[in-house]
Amino acid sequence: MSARILDGNALSADVRARLAEQVSQIKLRGITPCLAVILVGDNPASAVYVRNKVAGCEKAGMRSLRFDYPADVAPQVVLDKIAELNADDSVHGILVQLPLPPQFDEKAVLEAISVDKDVDGFHAENVGRLSQGQRAFFPCTPHGVMKLLEAGHVDVSGADAVVIGRSNIVGKPMAMLLTQAGATVTVCHSRTRDLASHTRRADILVVAIGRPMFVTGDMIKPGAAVIDVGMNRIPAGMPNEGKLCGDVDFASAKDVAGAITPVPGGVGPMTITMLLSNTLESAERQAERQEGRA
Ligand code: NAP
Repeated sequence: MSARILDGNALSADVRARLAEQVSQIKLRGITPCLAVILVGDNPASAVYVRNKVAGCEKAGMRSLRFDYPADVAPQVVLDKIAELNADDSVHGILVQLPLPPQFDEKAVLEAISVDKDVDGFHAENVGRLSQGQRAFFPCTPHGVMKLLEAGHVDVSGADAVVIGRSNIVGKPMAMLLTQAGATVTVCHSRTRDLASHTRRADILVVAIGRPMFVTGDMIKPGAAVIDVGMNRIPAGMPNEGKLCGDVDFASAKDVAGAITPVPGGVGPMTITMLLSNTLESAERQAERQEGRA
């Protein structure tokens, strides 16, 4: 058996085409969705992510603003910029690329972003809203996973779902979204005993660890939907050294799983797509507020 591929590139292209259409509609109402991106330091991976986010905005017809600071910038300079962007009605989304250099209190920076412009969905208030099932900006990567499951006709309601990883940006919000969609969710992490005993009973297995090819075919329930969030480089000395790979050993997993996301081309493209979607949603909320006042 070979698993069905949950194709993030194809889904992303569909969703982005629809977004571009909606962007041209909202422009007719006098609003151009705009995302402001702040990058501190010269981490090469962060620079690539930021470039892709800015390019994604432009392709969708949205405006983007980019603010680059050296690694030794005083945190107050960045906080002042966030305050200025919060007050600017022409800006709908504000994103600070993580990780930040050590002089920053990351939580304080995320809390400084207006809840209404927190298109990454990392602000504590948005996290709280998500946990209560209220309208919120959902973190982009787990939101993209939910879209992939939906497009792949994977039944979430009633499914046993296992999420490996409990980070604030992927694992925890992923577990909340799956719970809200009716799955019975187990969250595993580095302290979990006998990880394979959990993964082997998962109808849906989401892996967000950051370890190349960690989950192998023998850890997967036959027919399961396997979502590989990992983005790693193949370690030195292994075949295809330096190439991009996931947290799942695709070669052995695809023979057991019923559906699987590849890396690259699975979850990755959906993350930026959901960021664009959140930015458009923020602009639409602003349009509703403006028209409500008129
Ligand atoms: P993270 O903050 O480092 O969290 C990793 C999680 O994995 C932690 O909860 C950790 O457990 C758990 N873990 C580590 N080793 C484990 C093990 N041997 N067994 C079980 N659990 C283990 O990472 P992250 O930010 O969530 O990212 C995870 C991966 O997703 C990375 O490869 C990252 O590059 C990728 N990612 C991709 C996208 C995308 O758009 N495709 C977006 C975000 C992240 P503890 O909590 O106990 O330490």
